[in-house]
Amino acid sequence: AAAHARIRAVDGRIKAFLHTDADRSAALAADADRLIAGGSQSDLAGVPVAIKDNLCVEGEPCTCASRMLANFRPPYTATAVRRLLDAGAVPVGRTNLDEFAMGSSTENSGAGPTRNPWDPARAPGGSSGGSAAAVAAGMAPIALGSDTGGSIRQPAAFCGVVGLKPTYGRVSRYGLVAFASSLDQIGPFARTVRDAASVLQTIAGHDPLDSTSLSNPVPDYLTDLDEPLAGLRIGLVADHFDVGLDKDVSDAVKGAVELYRSLGAEVVDVTLPHNKYSVATYYLVAPSEASSNLARYDGVHYGHRAAKFDSLEEMYERSRGEGFGDEVKRRIMLGTYALSSGYYDAFYLKAMKVRRLIQQDYVAAFEKCDVIASPVTPTTAFAIGELADDPLAMYLSDVYTISANLAGIPAISLPCGFSRGLPIGLQLLGPALSEPNLLRTARMYE
Ligand code: GLN
Repeated sequence: AAAHARIRAVDGRIKAFLHTDADRSAALAADADRLIAGGSQSDLAGVPVAIKDNLCVEGEPCTCASRMLANFRPPYTATAVRRLLDAGAVPVGRTNLDEFAMGSSTENSGAGPTRNPWDPARAPGGSSGGSAAAVAAGMAPIALGSDTGGSIRQPAAFCGVVGLKPTYGRVSRYGLVAFASSLDQIGPFARTVRDAASVLQTIAGHDPLDSTSLSNPVPDYLTDLDEPLAGLRIGLVADHFDVGLDKDVSDAVKGAVELYRSLGAEVVDVTLPHNKYSVATYYLVAPSEASSNLARYDGVHYGHRAAKFDSLEEMYERSRGEGFGDEVKRRIMLGTYALSSGYYDAFYLKAMKVRRLIQQDYVAAFEKCDVIASPVTPTTAFAIGELADDPLAMYLSDVYTISANLAGIPAISLPCGFSRGLPIGLQLLGPALSEPNLLRTARMYE
């Protein structure tokens, strides 16, 4: 009830939520009370959670902020959400996003942008901008988002909260509306590292319903979280601090690294020679997979169907033309082109080869260090409208986050300072399945 009161009080200005249902939350809260009365040990019993609107929950709207799915009510529940429900968490609503999670500002939402709680003229980041803003504005203590190229970490940085992208396969993608299946991963937003660890504990683990989910046992992320790491080696990549990075962001990230040094960490220089190709690689791989994943929205299998048409061809054309927004269409065209005969070798196949080199760079770097520290974003939150007409500039705002998805490794974003009243994020990246280490390192900074 308190979460809904807060949503009613502030969400008229922030617009983090696309859909809320106070009655349903009240029923789930009553279930949680019974769990607690029955002696539940779950940290999350009774805790409100905001859920990005690209995660399916049986019977609830799931629009992906797209006209295409305006009337979609999935008949099943995403595994990550199911596990939160089983732990007694109480969903309070569905959060805004860039249409089908394509974007970095939540401006590509069919429902209009979410506003950054620190400055409503600015973007909360994206694509999980609604989830980040909901946590930052105190409307929910925890939220779920999805991260394909930075969509949890970048909005976490812009909104001054903690955001974690787990190792690819650590959290089941079952019930997450697919954008780019080899990159997509669900993860938590929270105000503290401990809360993020608690959500990960609940949602991680093998799921027979997702063939890419990992069967490795889930470690206990919470025990030892407060034990400082002895002999921690933090890697720094010189290129990360090159031109294009705002001075205040650079200073804050370097300041955080100095703090680790003062706590006993060793700081080592590492290189990621192919990192400079990560944005180009991502914008071939992600749109290619998207063009295939989004083929199902044809007005027959799924989605909006045009009212008037004279042939089957025209029905597809009109349904897709009316249902998708500009950015989604741009990605479908880019991906279809990159996969088409004659261009496949030159674009898609080349991108897959560079992706492998990017992965190998990380493997080599993690022989010299345990964690890499970097900025999350080149600047603090930009103004709404500032990059909206310049897709390439928008794509470049993901320059620090994208390679973790290409490599499949985990990364966390946590607040490390302010510039002119706006939060700055610190990113920590680790080798595959190093979440326990990553969370402990993040906790040391907190
Ligand atoms: N901003 C990136 C994109 O537009 C990443 C989005 C995401 O992680 N879902 O594709």
